[in-house]
Amino acid sequence: SRFLITGGTGFIGSYLVRQLLEAKHEVVVLSRNPLNAAYLFNAKARIIKDLSELSYETEFDIVINLAGQPIWGLPWSEKRKAHIMASRVGTTEKLTTWFKQAKHPPKLVIQASAIGFYGVRDPNEILTESSQKGSGFMAELCYEWEQSAKQFDSNKTRLTIFRLGVVLGYGGIFPLMLLPYYFGLGGKIGSGSQIMSWIHIEDVMGTFAHAIANPNVNGTYNLVAPETLSQAKFALIVSQWAKRPLLLNIPAKPISKLLGEMSELIIDGQNVSSIKLIESGVIFKYPTMLDTLNEIRTK
Ligand code: NDP
Repeated sequence: SRFLITGGTGFIGSYLVRQLLEAKHEVVVLSRNPLNAAYLFNAKARIIKDLSELSYETEFDIVINLAGQPIWGLPWSEKRKAHIMASRVGTTEKLTTWFKQAKHPPKLVIQASAIGFYGVRDPNEILTESSQKGSGFMAELCYEWEQSAKQFDSNKTRLTIFRLGVVLGYGGIFPLMLLPYYFGLGGKIGSGSQIMSWIHIEDVMGTFAHAIANPNVNGTYNLVAPETLSQAKFALIVSQWAKRPLLLNIPAKPISKLLGEMSELIIDGQNVSSIKLIESGVIFKYPTMLDTLNEIRTK
């Protein structure tokens, strides 16, 4: 098939583009840095910096929209929040505008969103796709991002929105999450009751493939593993897996002080249900955290 990918040079995107190229699909990557992108994919994907480089006659079967400025990093100043928002909503609007003028709408759009949509929630509340949007910056960001993608939805284009949990694999945030444990510095953060909803990167790939193959996969889905766990449980599992003691208790206050609003990413969590995804027929390769950690050990 013919794919158009945004954010194709990122953690999830580069994994995806490599798999698509290996399977001999045609891939166009929209990137702000074409040289880097060309290097990453050995010039096997076509790289464009702007959609204006494409003719309106160009046909794509599938668009996968991942682009966005990283959420992690410096604390969220108003300016940074505006950039984080514009990098997602702006890219998505450019895409929908281009496709409105183009001759052929895509058959399928896979749109990334995040479980941050649900905002800061009680750990006991199980969040399904029909749960209300939460409060806080992540919730606003995901809501606006999803809304902008809805412009794609038509009788010719199937729109699938995935609210991703924290994606675990080589690269991304996972190695950083594990690092303190190797030094015996892992531990409970804040109350430790905040729930982690996560997903192995291979299961993200599997779910995208499932959505491509099954026309009934339509609308919004949480993309998280069946096993969600409290941060305290996560700390225990990782310390046992790494055979290191669990000594530290990191209080929430200094984290909030240091990171400000961004601390919601660490001291709050969401208990997100994967039921709708499972009922759609997705089979997880790595349903539990231990499966994921053990897979890392084999590499
Ligand atoms: P990365 O940060 O690794 O990659 C994102 C890509 O977006 C980059 O490669 C870059 O491509 C592009 N990008 C970065 N800044 C901007 C900008 N200012 N304007 C336009 N494009 C930009 O992200 P991931 O692969 O980890 O995630 C992909 C998407 O999924 C992200 O939008 C992320 O928010 C979302 N997500 C990720 C989760 C995770 O755990 N990884 C969890 C939930 C959601 P280039 O430099 O080539 O232009």
